[in-house]
Amino acid sequence: MKKKMSLANKVLIALITGIVFGLISNAFFSVSLNDFFVKWILTPVGNVFLRGIKMVVVPLVLFSLISGAASIGDIKKLGRVGGKIISYYVLTTALAVTIALIFANIVNPGLGLNMALPTEYKAAEAPFIMDVFVNMIPTNPIESLVKGEMLQIIVFAILFGVSITLIGERAKPLLNVINQANDAMIKIIGIVMLTAPYGVFALISKVIIAQGIDVLLPLLKYIFAILFVLLLQVLLVYGAALKILGKVNPLKFFKKFWTVMVVAFSTSSSNATIPVNLDTCQKRLGVPESISSFTIPLGATVNMDGTAIMQGVAAVFIAQVFGIDLSIQQQLIIILTATLASIGTAGVPGAGIVMLAMVLQQIGIPLEGIAIVLSVDRIVDMCRTVVNITGDAVGTVIVSNSEKELNLEVYNA
Ligand code: ASP
Repeated sequence: MKKKMSLANKVLIALITGIVFGLISNAFFSVSLNDFFVKWILTPVGNVFLRGIKMVVVPLVLFSLISGAASIGDIKKLGRVGGKIISYYVLTTALAVTIALIFANIVNPGLGLNMALPTEYKAAEAPFIMDVFVNMIPTNPIESLVKGEMLQIIVFAILFGVSITLIGERAKPLLNVINQANDAMIKIIGIVMLTAPYGVFALISKVIIAQGIDVLLPLLKYIFAILFVLLLQVLLVYGAALKILGKVNPLKFFKKFWTVMVVAFSTSSSNATIPVNLDTCQKRLGVPESISSFTIPLGATVNMDGTAIMQGVAAVFIAQVFGIDLSIQQQLIIILTATLASIGTAGVPGAGIVMLAMVLQQIGIPLEGIAIVLSVDRIVDMCRTVVNITGDAVGTVIVSNSEKELNLEVYNA
C-alpha cells in the first residue's frame, strides 16, 4: 500500500513548485497569459486559502485565550508567564535590531547607490507610540472583534478567563461551552489546512509572476543584508535560545515547525498564521494550551523580530543612499525606536514598512526614502514574517519548559 504524503510535505512541494512556476511564467509566458492565470486561477485559489485561515483567527484567539486564561487558574502564575514572555519578546527584538545594525554597518548596503526618488510617494503618518499601549484597552469589545483588533481582543479575553476563574464553580458551564467552541475552531483549521498546498502554490507564484527578478536587482545588496540577518536570528539567536534557555533540541523544533514557516512566508501575515502556529505548538511541540493560547496571539501582535531587523537595515540603507552619516547615538535611537515600532506593527502584510516611518522620523532621515525600499518590500515581508512567528513559538517553548509544563515526550517525538 502506498503511504500517504503528509500535509507538511505537500505544503513544501507546493512552495517549491509555486516558485518555479512563477519564475517560468514571468520569464517565458506572454503578459496576457499571465494576467489570465493570475486573475482566473491564482488569485481566487490563493484567496480561498487566505480567507479560510483568516476566518478562524478572531474566534480562535477569543475562545482559546479565555479557556487558556481560565485553565491557568492561578492569577500569580498568569502574571509570571506574562512577565517572562514579554521580557523574552522585548529582549530578542532589541537583540535582533542590534545585530541588524552591526551587520549593516559592516556591509554598507546603501553606499555608492544613487537612486532617484519616485516623486508621487507620500509616507504614511506613524502612530504615536503611547497610543499603542493605551489603545490596548477596548472601549467596546464587540467592536474589537469586528475590526480584528488583536491586542484589544487579547486584553478582553484574558480578563474574561480570569473572571471565570474568580467566579469558580458557578461559571463552569460557561467555560465548558467556550472549551467546546474552541475545539470546534481547531477542527475548522484542520479542514481549511487541507487547501493549504493549493493556496501556498497560488500565493507564491502570484507574487513571483508580478515581481519577477528584475525589480530585485538594484536593491540586491539591501535584500541580502536583511536575509542574512534574518537567517542569523533564526539559526543563532533562536537556536541558542532553545538550547540554552529552553534546554531542548533546536533541530527537533525546526523539523516540526517549518509548515508554519511556509504559511507565514506565503501569507506575509503573522495574524493569519496564528491558527497553524497554535496547532503546531500544542499538538507537535508539546506546549500546553494554557500558555500558548496567550503567548502566540500576543507574539503575533507585538513580537516582530524580523520586522525590527528590516527596520534597522532599512534605516542604515536609506541614510546611506541620502549620504547621511549616522552617529552612535542615532544608532542607539534606532535600536529603541525599531523595537517600539515593531511592537506597534500589526501582523498583516506590509505593516512594517509603514512603521518604518516612525524610525526614520526619530533620527531625521527623509521619509521619502521609504519609497526606495517599497518596490521590493513584498519579498522582504514574506521572509521577515517567517522570523516574526518563529520567535513567538521559540519563546513559547522556552517559557513552557521554564514552567515545567513542556511535554518533552511530544516535543522529542
Ligand atoms: N507582515 C508582517 C507580519 O505580519 C509585518 C510587517 O509588515 O513587518 O508579521
